[in-house]
Amino acid sequence: MSMYRKCLVCDHEFVANEALEHLDRGRKVAFDPEKGRLWLICRACSRWSLVPMESRWEALEELEKLVRDQARVLSRTDNVALLRAGPLEIVRVGRAQLREEAWWRYGRELRQRRERFRKLSAAGTIGAVAAIAGSWTTGGLGFVGAWLVWDRAPALVTGGARWLRFGNTAWRGEGECIRCGRPIERLPYSERSSLILTPDEGSPGVIVSCPDCERARESGLLLQGQEAARTLRRVLGFHHFSGASGGRVDQAVRLIEASGGPERLPNRILKRGKPLGAVGKVGRFALEIAVHEETERSLLAMELAELEAHWRREEELARIMDGELTPLPLLESFRRRLAGG
Ligand SMILES: [Zn+2]
Ligand SMILES: [Zn+2]
Repeated sequence: MSMYRKCLVCDHEFVANEALEHLDRGRKVAFDPEKGRLWLICRACSRWSLVPMESRWEALEELEKLVRDQARVLSRTDNVALLRAGPLEIVRVGRAQLREEAWWRYGRELRQRRERFRKLSAAGTIGAVAAIAGSWTTGGLGFVGAWLVWDRAPALVTGGARWLRFGNTAWRGEGECIRCGRPIERLPYSERSSLILTPDEGSPGVIVSCPDCERARESGLLLQGQEAARTLRRVLGFHHFSGASGGRVDQAVRLIEASGGPERLPNRILKRGKPLGAVGKVGRFALEIAVHEETERSLLAMELAELEAHWRREEELARIMDGELTPLPLLESFRRRLAGG
């Protein structure tokens, strides 16, 4: 089969994919079932390589089936939709009837974070080996010392990386306790598990507790709206610094779906007065995914605007390349098969 191995523009190699039988290259593909076009999208230069006509038809059919049965629509405009199915990112030209689920993509972030955390821990272990070996030769580190370094180095490295990323404070501002009037100006991460979240529709409010009132009813400072969302994103990001396994992310996704979407989730898992530390593991991961919905949605909207611009240019080229070469009967029979399937 004459599928390209490399990008036609920059020569960057398309990685192998096992998701499709008739399209064994590329992680990002674009297709137009109406016009019968199929492109591989280059990760290096973002340009689209038009797949030769004779290699298109089975792949197009397979793609359309995959989109119908398994894909999630992350974002769409009137002309293009961005979908994900397994390892594949798919740009489908034409109207998509499915519901957008931008929030779903954030699960990828949690999984990647776990990967990064593993590498950091490994780097800490390697550092410990070097430190122990180095001091052994100078006789500076006894067995107990070596054991201590060995035991703590990974945690020191990952802890340091977390501190660099987040600092000590989840929120800083000016406010006061609604019960006693004491000024409240910061929320350190160390107090995160006693943080109270209010189960509103959409983004939950965050109550920063007052040291004088010790979590008495109706005390502390209530953060709402964007400020609460931002604080919660930081707290959850800090708490989940080591990320989540694929299985855990799947559980979190199912919980969000069972709740009726990310905006309904807080109501489902938070009870009035229940501290964050008492929310289950899956619930907390789901919450982190849910509080990123808006960011994820706007990121995807930007990405999609760019994809649409690419599509316009590549479609113009494809029209010329396919042009008179397209055997019309072939295209017609393909369309009929798609419509029938
Ligand atoms: Zn390229
Ligand atoms: Zn107070």
